[in-house]
Amino acid sequence: MGMDVPDDIVDRIRRVIGSAPGVALHEPDLGETEKAFVLDCLASGWVSSVGKYVDQLERELASYTGAKHAVAVVNGTAALHTCLILAGVRPGDEVLCPALTFIATANAIRYCGAEPHFADVALDTLGMCPSRLEAYLTDLVRVEHHTPVNRFTGRRLAAVVPMHTFGTPVDLDPLQEVCERFSIPMIEDAAESLGSLYKGRHTGTWGLASAVSFNGNKIITAGGGGAILTNDSDLAARAKHLTTTAKRPHRWAFEHDETGFNYRMPNLNAALAVAQLSRLDLLREQKKRLAQRYAEAFSDCPSARFYKPPAVADSNCWLNAILVDGGQAMRDQVLERACDSGIATRPIWQLACDAAMYRECPSMDLTNSRMLVDSIVSIPSSAHLAGPRQLQSAA
Ligand SMILES: *Cc1c(COP(=O)(O)O)cnc(C)c1O
Repeated sequence: MGMDVPDDIVDRIRRVIGSAPGVALHEPDLGETEKAFVLDCLASGWVSSVGKYVDQLERELASYTGAKHAVAVVNGTAALHTCLILAGVRPGDEVLCPALTFIATANAIRYCGAEPHFADVALDTLGMCPSRLEAYLTDLVRVEHHTPVNRFTGRRLAAVVPMHTFGTPVDLDPLQEVCERFSIPMIEDAAESLGSLYKGRHTGTWGLASAVSFNGNKIITAGGGGAILTNDSDLAARAKHLTTTAKRPHRWAFEHDETGFNYRMPNLNAALAVAQLSRLDLLREQKKRLAQRYAEAFSDCPSARFYKPPAVADSNCWLNAILVDGGQAMRDQVLERACDSGIATRPIWQLACDAAMYRECPSMDLTNSRMLVDSIVSIPSSAHLAGPRQLQSAA
């Protein structure tokens, strides 16, 4: 008789991560560089809203991703909120976003006084599906005074916000075409995908502007933090202005010309982020190796498959996941059994459209999103779990 399904799955995870008790889902990877930069920041006295590490982070983030500009902010949600304002999202608008996303995507839309309008995801990328979005918009959109409007609600469609789930880029080329065809700006929620590329170009550099997160669970962390990426110099200047209380530059006067936000990243957090950014390539390498080992461990699993991004995607492999057969009941048994065995695993998020505050929002058919919610289990993904690099024998 074969092994019980949850036991088999836990056993396969254990083959990769070893037998240590208490394995976390995702831990930050901190070392001597982090310590040195944070101590240097403390010694300088510049721990708060200005300092050299904020400027350094912005320069190095732009250079790493190839974005023309980066603006460091207090967290990824604030970055997303600011991006939506940059795109011109106003009260009464609608903004398309995936139902399968962390709640912050929808929250940022609401912060603008706009309504999230939920789209389904593709099974291969776990992100917005360009072809289904195109078919949906073809029925939905009416053009009024050169503006795309939802013909049923009469509200303006002000932005499309794809999210790169677990680091896997959405199918950006066709998605960008759809956005252009309907004249709707694209803002990327790249909170999970720093270091992921699509056709050789970094996620976060495709949209009008995009949001990155440095929360403690992301591929690199600032303790808490985020950034706005954009190739548009005017938008970058406006992002900086808006996120720093919209104060006009002056040697001593306090003059503010619009209602801005205190969304600055403190220099202390930026010091940590600069150190982390210097090891992003190494982390990516470790995470690719870990994903490869999971793929092998699950290659012949009869009851679950390891999620693999499509070939065109060069993912940062931030969070690994398996898709468990047998619906929500089996998914929950796997979560229970992993928990019993001291392995942190998690279901994916509740669909944003099912959260109490978004239940009345418009939505397309969400068949794929609902199926994925019932089957996805995220599994331990800390970079150190990849183990030591295979030693090459001396040639
Ligand atoms: C983490 C995350 C955010 C928000 O980032 P914070 O820095 O935690 O505010 C937004 N969207 C997605 C998809 C995320 O995973």
